[in-house]
Amino acid sequence: MAIPGQVVTVKDSAGLDWSADIPVPQREPWLALHTEMKEPIRAGALNAGKMPALQIPKDAAAIILVRLDTDPTNPEMFWARRSTKLAFLGGFYAFPGGQREPSDIEAPVRHCDDPETAAMISCGARELFEEVGVLLARGAQTLTIGQRASLLDDLESKRLAWPELLNLYGLHLDASDFTFVGRWVTPPFAPRRFDTWFVLADCPAKQQPRITEDSELESGEWIRAGDAYEKWQRSEVIAVPPVLHALKTLAAGLTADLVERFLSVPQARREPTRRIEFFPNYICFPLRTPTKPPATHTNCYLVYTSREILVIDPGSPYEDEQLALADCVDDLISQGRTVREIILTHVHPDHVAGVDGLNEHFSQKHGAAVPVGAHRLTAESLKNQVSVNRFVEDDEVLKLNGEPAIRLRALYTPGHARGHFCFYDERTGALISGDNIVGFGSVLIDPPEGNMREYLDSLRTMRLLPNLSVLFGGHGPAVANPYEKIDEYISHRLQREELILAAVREGASTPKEIVARVYTDVPMRAHSMAERAVLAHLEKLEDEGLVEQTSHDTYRAAQAND
Ligand SMILES: [Zn+2]
Repeated sequence: MAIPGQVVTVKDSAGLDWSADIPVPQREPWLALHTEMKEPIRAGALNAGKMPALQIPKDAAAIILVRLDTDPTNPEMFWARRSTKLAFLGGFYAFPGGQREPSDIEAPVRHCDDPETAAMISCGARELFEEVGVLLARGAQTLTIGQRASLLDDLESKRLAWPELLNLYGLHLDASDFTFVGRWVTPPFAPRRFDTWFVLADCPAKQQPRITEDSELESGEWIRAGDAYEKWQRSEVIAVPPVLHALKTLAAGLTADLVERFLSVPQARREPTRRIEFFPNYICFPLRTPTKPPATHTNCYLVYTSREILVIDPGSPYEDEQLALADCVDDLISQGRTVREIILTHVHPDHVAGVDGLNEHFSQKHGAAVPVGAHRLTAESLKNQVSVNRFVEDDEVLKLNGEPAIRLRALYTPGHARGHFCFYDERTGALISGDNIVGFGSVLIDPPEGNMREYLDSLRTMRLLPNLSVLFGGHGPAVANPYEKIDEYISHRLQREELILAAVREGASTPKEIVARVYTDVPMRAHSMAERAVLAHLEKLEDEGLVEQTSHDTYRAAQAND
């Protein structure tokens, strides 16, 4: 199996040169890596213009392990499922990899002139070894399984650092064993952001990846790339855009233009990813909004079939963001679809502020605005601000015609806001959860719009849905461990409530005093928001007869009446 010699040169929008040389295969397989990175894009560039302050993405590397001796038209690759216990991207399918460590740059890497590239190869190789026990180092072929296991133990127990370990055992990395296939930056809507180098490597014949104990991965398997891609198409797995792109690219075979195809999308060259399809037929389109920190973006969802599109929560008031969304919708329209409706999950400005702008665009470009649907209470609150044309009813099914036909059941789930809806796709188990569950930040329950008792009831309603596979929240990445996440939300609230009740019983009487005792883990600047949440808990406790309000702002524990 060999790929003819080729050189791929790409220039990205920042004017950086990306060159991937694939040498004519010699003694070793075709896999080779050579990239030239000049000044990396850093927060300065990402924060340019109107963007709110964003986290600086951390360097990371992921290794796409393949078996070159399998069918080149549908090669086997190794993928793994991230543990459902992880707060960040738990339950997602991914490749072994992780964050760069300071010592990675000290590892011996031959045939690589660029220290940055060498450090990222070293990072990827170390992560691969740590997570699945495969050691992609020259000289490792003479080690026994037992020796490799003892090396791994040395590394994991930190007896030896990665560069020391390689040196001590006379091992080194060789850049020609690694092929650079892209560098993707996590969109600015995530709590953790990475600038990840994706690297393809052939699995050494005598080694077998096995998920190690300390790994963030819970299971892994060899799978034909085409089968993996089909699993995604059948809505059976959830993956971030670079992983999905890798599945698609490998599924088309190990062709001469493989690297070129990997690098053919601008996002593989660190262009921001806007349109995110964690799950087929559901586009998550994060829009910059004046939302509550730490979130900076609100997710708009475009649910589509072969014929129709539903737009949920176009919430950005900013013209450039509205244009970006309109472009994405126009793209779907140009493929023969029509927009059926704009639907709102709830009343908050960061979910509704782009409705009229989008409809103006539809009127101008496509000749007519589309109807806007929302809960009656949402529509009433938005009177004179946003034109809502019809009321969506609890339990109503929104049907999208075409392939695959999609039926979204509207679930009235108040608590965060009075007229809040979630939308449930019974066929695939996807749930658009609005702001009831989010992938980033916490959910504010702010009375009188917010109501803690209703909120917990709504979470329980969501928990009872059968077959839940993914939550698409109003902020942050999708949640691929829905039941774990809902349980976590419920228990978090109940724990807070217990502490609040205890504080009241110990004499704290105002929300401010209660926050000072109970929210010791929350920074001062968030305390005024925490006071609103405490008030919501106090109202619930009062409903339940456990506390009494004694004046406008003070509470005490209810007297025992037995
Ligand atoms: Zn909200």
